[in-house]
Amino acid sequence: MAKIVMKFGGSSVADAESIKRVARRVMRAKQAGNDVVIVISAMGDTTDDLMDLALRVSPQPAPRELDMLLTTGERQSAALLAMALSDLGHEARSYTGSQAGVITTSAHGNARIIDITPGRVEKSLDEGAIVIVAGFQGVAQDTKDVTTLGRGASDTTAVALAAALNSDFCEIYSDVDGVFTADPRIVPGARQIPEITYEEMLEMAANGAKILHLRCVEYARRENVPVHVRSSFSEKPGTWVKDINDMEGTAMEQAIISGIAHDRSEAKITVVGVPDEAGRAAHIFETIAGADVNIDMIVQNVPEVGTNRTDISFTLPMTDGKKAIDALRAVQAEIGFEDLLYNDQIGKVSVVGVGMRSHPGVTAKFFNALAGAGINIGMISTSEIRISVVVPAEDVDDAVRAAHTAFGLDAEGQAVVYAGTGR
Ligand code: ASP
Ligand code: MG
Repeated sequence: MAKIVMKFGGSSVADAESIKRVARRVMRAKQAGNDVVIVISAMGDTTDDLMDLALRVSPQPAPRELDMLLTTGERQSAALLAMALSDLGHEARSYTGSQAGVITTSAHGNARIIDITPGRVEKSLDEGAIVIVAGFQGVAQDTKDVTTLGRGASDTTAVALAAALNSDFCEIYSDVDGVFTADPRIVPGARQIPEITYEEMLEMAANGAKILHLRCVEYARRENVPVHVRSSFSEKPGTWVKDINDMEGTAMEQAIISGIAHDRSEAKITVVGVPDEAGRAAHIFETIAGADVNIDMIVQNVPEVGTNRTDISFTLPMTDGKKAIDALRAVQAEIGFEDLLYNDQIGKVSVVGVGMRSHPGVTAKFFNALAGAGINIGMISTSEIRISVVVPAEDVDDAVRAAHTAFGLDAEGQAVVYAGTGR
């Protein structure tokens, strides 16, 4: 007998019929003799709809009240699933995040889990009930207010609960079959990855793959919780995300590159004509940090001979573009740069794979593939297991396809893939 946490995304519980379908699936897991904890997302587009409603009432809703509102989405689906399970003849108890012991910081809209005290969950399991926990929410340790953990964070609730309950693994159910070598909507020959390391999944999630919430993967790695990403619409095995030492081995040894991620959500700012003196770059990035903006890549040019001025470019989330520009404009005279350029018609393409640690030539192959497709590279950044480039937005799809082919990831025949939403 195992203790398993199963998380169902919004697309799996979009209407009454699908809630009943999920209930039947949960029943099968229970009848197989497992202790079962369910983490559930809000039905379909409920969270978006609640957000729209809030904005129609108030242009800048109070964060505390927005969290009170948004958490009701998950309460609905949790209670409804409990009803459906009870009709199938099994006791089920739904809990809010707070009742389940999810203790968080008080950063409304983006709270972090500090601790999980799952006393009530454990007691209900001991009494034989199926437990259902509303995802993406908790209660702040200091203020005792209801919090949310960020969009898509029911994944994180699930993995955090699995760790706190010492579950054997965590299953994340959505409407796609697993993690793919690239977005199947761009690359028809993309393949499902049977298993992938935590490190690779972290890089994929941090660089645009939307199938798993980034913090969920961080949590899984830290607590060593194997995560099985799979579809709630089929019985097919999905993708296992696990520790490199727990991998089956063979697949690992073959693939140098596990996948290609892409991200269209960033913009690039170029600070033109920065005096090439100690402290100027620090001042620029202090200003950006002061505006609470996270940056990703940075490139500094070689100073121009004679002028002793240089350009510094960096990427940031597009949604923070205005904030960053305004903050820099305010200190332009102080820092002494000449101009600011803003470009949001860019995209980032990343090749990810633990195999590049031990294989030289990966960068050359990637850049050759881009050159072959006539794509100009704007910026470059690397980690031990990732190479990312910034390219013009219109070239992103071609860049992903070129890299996918160059690293031998294309499936033989065209895989029939249902490219869902990943929710
Ligand atoms: N319902 C929330 C959202 O749409 C949380 C989740 O689905 O994980 O972001
Ligand atoms: Mg999701």
